Amino acid sequence: MSSRNILVINCGSSSIKFALVNEHSEEFLIQGLAERLGSTEAVLNWQLGDEKHVAQLPGADHQAAFARLLPLVQKASHGQLTGIGHRVVHGGAHFTEATALDREVIDVIRRAGVLAPLHNPAGLVGIEAVMALYPDLTHVAVFDTAFHQTMPEYAYRYAIPEHLYTEHHIRRYGFHGTSHLYVSRKGAEMAGLPVDDSCWLVAHLGNGCSTTAVVNGESRDTSMGLTPLEGLVMGTRSGDVDPSLQIHLHRTFGWTAQEVETMLTKQSGLLGVSGLSNDMRTLIEASEQGHERAALAIEIFCYRLAKSLAALSCALPKLDGLLFTGGIGENASLIRRKTLDHMRIFNFKLDDAANQACTRGAAGKISLDGHPLVMVVPTNEERQIANETLELIDAIAK
Ligand code: ADP
Repeated sequence: MSSRNILVINCGSSSIKFALVNEHSEEFLIQGLAERLGSTEAVLNWQLGDEKHVAQLPGADHQAAFARLLPLVQKASHGQLTGIGHRVVHGGAHFTEATALDREVIDVIRRAGVLAPLHNPAGLVGIEAVMALYPDLTHVAVFDTAFHQTMPEYAYRYAIPEHLYTEHHIRRYGFHGTSHLYVSRKGAEMAGLPVDDSCWLVAHLGNGCSTTAVVNGESRDTSMGLTPLEGLVMGTRSGDVDPSLQIHLHRTFGWTAQEVETMLTKQSGLLGVSGLSNDMRTLIEASEQGHERAALAIEIFCYRLAKSLAALSCALPKLDGLLFTGGIGENASLIRRKTLDHMRIFNFKLDDAANQACTRGAAGKISLDGHPLVMVVPTNEERQIANETLELIDAIAK
């Protein structure tokens, strides 16, 4: 069988992440990031094999960045492109799996955009631009929310009046589904357990952070909700706060909805507490040098993560293991240890050497024998999106 290439596209409001995934090769043929789009500092970085390249694209918007990067993809694929997988943040309750894109599906994604105004419009810019350039290929939307559509109603409903759910679709959706799905499957494979008979707690800790309880391959509960703001402390997002905070800020200080949103999504989390950075690596280095607010940000992050994992254990009939992933989960042994130190009644015990060795893509077990399994499992959302795109292309062809 000839091996096929899938282009995976992940559009943010000012960025485009892309990877060309070959179904039979571990390494991506080309991958890159166009960022700061729409500004004079717009730049495209890409990696081809071991070579790294940079091109300044002053003033480039998404369209201009695609015009620059797609020929690179075309060349790296030797003209052999089978399909395109687009990451879409919010699929609402409509999409439970990857879906081939057509006008109707695009309209539903646009309507779901009211639930994700910071994310879906950017995804649609990428979809429209790339579909116009490759009208003959199959384009597939892979949704961050889809994996969580198996949550039971008591987990996805908020305790607010029912009509807000029935008329306005206000409920918990959950995000990072592609990563939680990939990591829970990979974790089962690494542990030698069948996916459909294994139970996991997964902590995806990147700039955005979320936890998920996965039972027999299905999400049963997750920390993010209507939007990716609920739950854990993140790089610049507060995670859970008392909902009355917003009312208090409005009533007492006259804050607008926009001001509250900016504060909770862009100025809070690790950045807000430390006053220094949203980047965990920077905070760990600073706290080692005595920066007290950086140390406090780390403490709050770990305690809140532990609390979330303990809460999600309610969704599991048994625990086969805890899986860490994302930039922080895959690299920060300190965060893994501090988090588990807060979960004493679970009897987790880390093997310090194994914990410290798991960094920069090294994966595996970091717990001691005789204690609940803890593993580091690097995520690979691009691979998962490519796999789902290929599965759908195969299904359509049948
Ligand atoms: P995104 O959600 O944007 O994909 P990543 O998954 O790359 O983000 O995670 C970024 C986070 O991972 C940052 O907070 C970064 O500091 C952290 N990180 C990466 N490497 C390390 C490391 N060696 N030690 C601690 N934190 C790290």
